[in-house]
Parts: sequence; structure tokens; C-alpha cells
Amino acid sequence: MIKALLDYQAVDAKLREIEKKLSGSEERKKAVNAKKYLEGVEENVNKLDVRAGELALAYEQAVAEQTKLQEQSQAVSESLNGVQDEKEASFLIKKAEELIAKIKAYGAQIVKLSEELQAVIKEYNNIKATTKVAQTQYNENAKKYAELKDSVKDEKEEIEKQLLDLKGKVDAELMERYLKKRNNKIYPVLFEVRGNVCGACNMELPMSELNRLKNGEIIDCGQCGRLIYQGK
Ligand SMILES: [Zn+2]
Repeated sequence: MIKALLDYQAVDAKLREIEKKLSGSEERKKAVNAKKYLEGVEENVNKLDVRAGELALAYEQAVAEQTKLQEQSQAVSESLNGVQDEKEASFLIKKAEELIAKIKAYGAQIVKLSEELQAVIKEYNNIKATTKVAQTQYNENAKKYAELKDSVKDEKEEIEKQLLDLKGKVDAELMERYLKKRNNKIYPVLFEVRGNVCGACNMELPMSELNRLKNGEIIDCGQCGRLIYQGK
């Protein structure tokens, strides 16, 4: 029973190598990174759009408010021209000074908002440029990765065919246990017990499990999750 699975595992090593070659390839890593960036960009652009809208609105409001104050200020200085009464004149002068201070404050606010808007536009342009780079990086590497995949396709198919043949010789339930672990990226899956410890992770096995192994059972290591068997 164990022999058939060991044979399977030996051939499976070749499949594992191909999988590692593909998943660890620079082409794939670069394509995945570029894709992640491109996916994140949309969210960033949406945020910038919202921010730009808010700033533009605040800018318009500040300009409108400032214009209103300038009109008031104009009216005050005009009426000041015809005033004889000293008390009224000093009131109007005070009023004019207040208005000028407010106009100045709005002026500073307008400058600040304009600078913030410029910064948003700059950031947007940066994103546009890096997006273009990422798009190129993605296209190039996705193509290279597809080529790499294609270059190992025949070899992979041949191994998979061999594995399918070997699978037929393994106990179905055991095969299922093996494949479940293998799909969780555990490899090698099957290890021989060494003395009283797991051959993979060196965990000391309890007597009950050692007895099960002696009886020819294949057990799951409680620590590393691999399958352990007792050799003959
Ligand atoms: Zn273990």
C-alpha cells in the first residue's frame, strides 16, 4: 500500500518542481505586483476625484464670499466720502477695517485652497504616469509568464499522465488524504517514522500512535501535518 504512494510521491516531485518554477518566476511576481497596483489605482483616483470636487467647491465659495465683502467694502468707502459727522465717520472707518481684515483672511484661504488643488492635480498626474508604467509591466510580464507556462506544458502534461496511472494503484482513501495535504502546498507529504519521532519535524510520537504505525497504519503528524508510516 505504501509503496504505490511512495512511487506516486516520487513522480509528484517533478510536478512540484514545475509548480515552484512557475509560481516563483520573476515574470509572475512582476505581473502580480503590477496587477495589484492597477487594482489599487482606481480607488486612489476615486478618492482624488472626491477631494478635488470638495476643494473646487470650497474655492468657489471663498471667492464668492470675498467678492461680496469687496462690494460691501466699496460701498462703505463710498459712503464715507459724504460723511460729515465724526462719530459716524469713525464707525464707518472701523467697519471698513473689519471688512478689509475679512477680505484678507479669505484671500489667504483662497491661496491655500488653490495650492491644495494643485497638489491634487500633481498627484493625479503622477498616478497617471505610474499607471502607464504598471500597465506596460503587466502586459510584458503576463506575456512572458504565458510563454514560460507554455514552455513547460508538455512536460507537465506528461507528468500528470504518469501521476494519473500511479494514482490508480494507490488506495483511494489514502490518495485523498495525500492530495488534500498536497493541495495545501505540503510537499513531500509522506515521511517514514524515525525511531519514535516524525521523520519530517522530529516531534516525539505518543505510544498509541507508535503502536498504530507498527500495525501498518499511516497517521497524520499532529505537528507538521504530514503523513507518517513505519518502514519495513
Ligand atoms: Zn511531523
